[in-house]
Amino acid sequence: MKNLRASLTKSKVGLTKTIEYEGHVLSYSLFVNRRLKHLYITIDPIKGVIVKSPFSAIETIETLLLQKASWILSKLHAAQERTHIGRLLETEGKILYLGEAILLSSFQTPELFYKEKTPPLVNRLVEEWSFLMGVKPTKVSFRQAKKRWGSCSYRNELSFNLSLAQLPLECIAYIVVHELAHITHKHHQKAFWECVASFMPEYKNHEITLKKFSPSLI
Ligand SMILES: [Zn+2]
Repeated sequence: MKNLRASLTKSKVGLTKTIEYEGHVLSYSLFVNRRLKHLYITIDPIKGVIVKSPFSAIETIETLLLQKASWILSKLHAAQERTHIGRLLETEGKILYLGEAILLSSFQTPELFYKEKTPPLVNRLVEEWSFLMGVKPTKVSFRQAKKRWGSCSYRNELSFNLSLAQLPLECIAYIVVHELAHITHKHHQKAFWECVASFMPEYKNHEITLKKFSPSLI
């Protein structure tokens, strides 16, 4: 144990460890840093579970990890699904359209495909939902964003990700409702979510589904 502790304390490269939780074997990379105040757990889609701990005693670390195990598993699951969808795009010339994998014709690129599909679809939804919600954006534009599905400026200009057409239709509608709700509420506080829920009571389900998709094309 003494040697293990010594090597843990010095290690710059994480030590790979495993714990068991309800029949799942969870492996994680452990970094010990005595200057930390708490134990930090991050889920990296490529590196997996990373644990940064001020303690070097494995028993203490594992007790804390077990308390968070179901959260870790759900995060890992979401990360794996994201990777899976990304892989699907790369292989066999397939592309996501309205949440389904479809075969892309050989003369089309994903960029061109989404550029053609997304704007008319989103414009129609903006028209429908802005009427229902009684708000009006000053402008609607589209761009290839890596991290965002949509945004609303302080001048009420809405911008949407060009690859939105990859998502299931109800998720695209949710993003439209979300950005339109920002015309009235320029924040993510209670009043904002109440506004979203009043028009789309099931919006939380769409947020969960959205986690499986990436706003970036690649
Ligand atoms: Zn928002």
